Amino acid sequence: MKFAHIKEIRGSRSLYGSFLYIALVPLFIFGIVIMIYSSYTMTVNIKKEASDNLRNVGVAVLAAYEAAYKGDYNVVITDGVVEFYKGDVLLSEDFGLIDNIKSDTGVEISLFFYDTRVLTTITDPEGNRMINKGVNTTVLNTVVNNRTDCFYDNVLIGGKRYFAYYMPIMSWDGLTCLGMIGTATPANEVEGMVKNSVIRNLLIMLLALFVTAWFILHYTSGLISIIKRIMVFLQNIADGDLSVVADPVVIQRKDELGEMGRLAVRLRGSLRKLIEKDALTGINNRRYGRNKLNDLVEKGISYSIAMGDIDYFKQFNDKYGHDCGDKVLIEVARILSEGMRGKGFATRWGGEEFLLVFDNMKGMAATLATEKILDSVREQLVEHDGTYLSVTMSFGVAQADPTLTIDQNIDIADTRLYQAKEGGRNQIVGE
Ligand code: GH3
Ligand code: MG
Ligand code: MG
Repeated sequence: MKFAHIKEIRGSRSLYGSFLYIALVPLFIFGIVIMIYSSYTMTVNIKKEASDNLRNVGVAVLAAYEAAYKGDYNVVITDGVVEFYKGDVLLSEDFGLIDNIKSDTGVEISLFFYDTRVLTTITDPEGNRMINKGVNTTVLNTVVNNRTDCFYDNVLIGGKRYFAYYMPIMSWDGLTCLGMIGTATPANEVEGMVKNSVIRNLLIMLLALFVTAWFILHYTSGLISIIKRIMVFLQNIADGDLSVVADPVVIQRKDELGEMGRLAVRLRGSLRKLIEKDALTGINNRRYGRNKLNDLVEKGISYSIAMGDIDYFKQFNDKYGHDCGDKVLIEVARILSEGMRGKGFATRWGGEEFLLVFDNMKGMAATLATEKILDSVREQLVEHDGTYLSVTMSFGVAQADPTLTIDQNIDIADTRLYQAKEGGRNQIVGE
């Protein structure tokens, strides 16, 4: 549908722009907040999961040692060589248990005596186990001195970043902290998981956001198109075209826009009535008469016309005043209108001239009908300031010749009216 003659309003000042603004801006703000919040919670949760997992592995390792070897952890240092015992069993050379658990879980495991790594699955690039290395003082203070677990998401071991969990290892009586067990997983593994989950989450949310936005855009442009159809209708009325037909898509709507369309149709109806009614007498005016005659001709309906004129009308004005003349016009108009009911219609053609249109009626019948109407005019006295005035009219009746134009047919009736006047007035010259 084209709206060429409608003023195009574009951008943020248009209704479309406003709709988008009130719908899309909150949607995107909402979407962005949700995305940030869910990404954040997802990151926190995955890290928490990683931390729990590391802790569980640590607990499992300690339980496995406890089950395998009775007795307390102990260290013997001879000539600088650290020997790590559990009960009577030397653990220093026994990597089997932690290596097995590592291969099952993928988690690096280290046991510390005090702050020194004495047993570990972590190897340097050459493949040597990274034993006899210390931990930083923060870890030492938190775990060994304060005897609490701790989790770090950024621990450097041999130049590589790890997520690490440390737990104190207590003596059998629970009084002394002998060292720690540390479990670690490479940071890039956890971060890769975080990244994957967050990206997947963002993609789903973005998709949902765009689908929602598409629905809003689609629905909005549907509404705007209805509003524009109403505008086209009103534009035609504003341009003076009262024959414009309302778009059924608008009129059939059950909502406020449909109601607006129906009001516009009523507006057109009211305007039509206003411009087709004579202000003084309230009967149809010449414009209505012309439109109706055109309709009759278009539809090929035969008709007859009677052009009538009030006799000596000027005298009512001159003797009794203009108001009296008006009163006579109103009375005559009413009588003619009522007399034409069921036969056709009467119009005030101008001044004190009236045109009667009989549809589907031959000239003879129209002349007879006009005779009856003239009788009514004669019988009806018009009261003015206590005086009763009688009114007469002269008529020229003609059966419309379909080969002639409307104006030519009216001219024939006019000529006959003149003859009636010439013949003494208060009479009809017809077929
Ligand atoms: P005739 O019998 O030959 O028709 O004589 P007439 O006096 O009726 O004709 P004429 O054309 O001389 O006078 C018509 C008058 O009608 C002139 C005009 O002032 C008056 N007139 C036209 N419109 C109105 C109106 O709306 N109200 C009043 N009061 N007078 C009107
Ligand atoms: Mg006249
Ligand atoms: Mg007259």
